[in-house]
Amino acid sequence: DTPPFHRHMERLAAEGIDVVRVTYPDLLGTERARDVLLDHLPSACDHGLAFCRAVYHTTPRGDVVPVVGGLDAGLPDICVVPDLDTLTALPWEPGVATCLGDVTDPATGRPAPESPRDLLRAVLDRCGEHGLRPVVGPELEYFLCDAAPDAPGGWRRYSTAGGVVYTAGLRADDDNHLLRTLRLLGAMNIGVSSGNHEFDGSQFEINLAHSGAMTAADRAFRFKTAVKELARKEGRLATFMAKPFNDAGGSGFHLHLSCADDRGANTFDAPSAPYGLSATGRHAVAGVLAHAPALAALANPTVNSYKRFGPDTLAPWLVDWGLDNRSAMVRIPPERGSGSRLELRLGDASANPYLLIAGTVAASLLGILAGEEPPAPLEGYGYDPTKAAALPTTLPAALDALEADTALTEVLGKDFTTSYLTYKRDEIARFHRHVTDWEFTEYAYHL
Ligand code: GLU
Ligand code: MG
Ligand code: MG
Repeated sequence: DTPPFHRHMERLAAEGIDVVRVTYPDLLGTERARDVLLDHLPSACDHGLAFCRAVYHTTPRGDVVPVVGGLDAGLPDICVVPDLDTLTALPWEPGVATCLGDVTDPATGRPAPESPRDLLRAVLDRCGEHGLRPVVGPELEYFLCDAAPDAPGGWRRYSTAGGVVYTAGLRADDDNHLLRTLRLLGAMNIGVSSGNHEFDGSQFEINLAHSGAMTAADRAFRFKTAVKELARKEGRLATFMAKPFNDAGGSGFHLHLSCADDRGANTFDAPSAPYGLSATGRHAVAGVLAHAPALAALANPTVNSYKRFGPDTLAPWLVDWGLDNRSAMVRIPPERGSGSRLELRLGDASANPYLLIAGTVAASLLGILAGEEPPAPLEGYGYDPTKAAALPTTLPAALDALEADTALTEVLGKDFTTSYLTYKRDEIARFHRHVTDWEFTEYAYHL
């Protein structure tokens, strides 16, 4: 019998793969990676690949944020071990396959507490103790841009056509971006199911099939990188920023959530219960509502995220739920039976999939364990602030809500929460020190 590792090596060589890109998510959900020559893969699997643990503490621009275990500890190593079960060829990069890596802290032999994948694993273990297996389906939106040296930031929306929502084809997608992207992603085996043009010009949505929560997070993480890489390959920018343009809506990261029992049956389904939702399903909704302000810190992780919220946007604004109501933060789609689920519309596309999913699952679990019932569902127009509480309107407010939500942070872990709050508060401080274009236009001339 060929040992599994050798089977992987033989398969890779037979497929003409000579480089394996070993990746893992940092705190922001950015893909960190090392390209490993196939000959070196056995050694990488035996010993792991060394990375600086500061990856969890480094901004996309490269500044190191003062998080415990980073600079203060002399920027030590973390060790990344390729998980060959996640190998998949990159359809646009011949000869290259990619796989996820498992992260350990060599000092303790355990995962680094900031490792998002390990955080999700811990939350799912907690669910497992209660016989719950979360099932997740992610929906991600993004904008596609062309380089334009004269435009603000150097990019403008790619298609000359305006937004033609729920279309596919050339009417709103001059260069068939969606079709090409969908096909290439389909070849990656990450559960991509369908795509369409979204509400705003040059905005697209691509959906991933539902799966176990870890698989869903892995897929969403790989999906975001793949879309960005594909766009770069064509000299374009695919941005998952929450609200990149003043004259367009934002990009959401909707999450469909249900739970399976040990036999795979949907535990949210109960045809004769209120709303056709089981007590487990209703308690999960109540948990998500109860912890929404704290959850926003993970689902809406940037200073820009809060510009996506607002009345009449299709993004939420209030902490509410409704039956097939897209103006509510939690929508219960009309399907029942095996399709009974909630759709959390809170998250924006900039969220780290692991943290969004871990936070949503943790909030649901807390609701299920507390046996809470949600208030009556919203009916009709959802953007009436007299009907429900407001979501945090800034990142600082969301971080304060996270810090104050001790039930949620207990599930997420104290070390993770401390690192995350430190990182994000440093981001806010950097933002507040920066003079924006808006300030110049508003103040430079008339005061
Ligand atoms: N773009 C909207 C958002 O920011 C969602 C639109 C939709 O319902 O698909 O959440
Ligand atoms: Mg959409
Ligand atoms: Mg949706």
